[in-house]
Amino acid sequence: MAFVVTEACLGCKNTVCITVCPVDCFHEDARSLWIDPDTCIDCGACAPECPVDAIFPDRSVPLQSRHYIALNAEKVANLPVITEQREPLS
Ligand code: SF4
Ligand code: SF4
Repeated sequence: MAFVVTEACLGCKNTVCITVCPVDCFHEDARSLWIDPDTCIDCGACAPECPVDAIFPDRSVPLQSRHYIALNAEKVANLPVITEQREPLS
């Protein structure tokens, strides 16, 4: 089980979510964050911190965002881990 970042994250980079993750499983590209499902320990700490409700447990990702479960796993393979908070994009 893992948590999943969905489309609401696009353009945020608020990154408050990463400050509560105990295992550094967030990765970043230019406009979004992604969670490594192999590193996530399913603790749930990040989801309530996200101001736009972009993070869901994989078992309850909304139907229209289900493809983000696979997308997170694919994206993290080629993106760096983010360990420091960034300035929001907007
Ligand atoms: S706080 Fe939410 S929307 Fe912002 S970077 Fe983190 S997961 Fe994405
Ligand atoms: S559920 Fe916990 S381990 Fe997984 S990404 Fe969120 S804070 Fe990190």
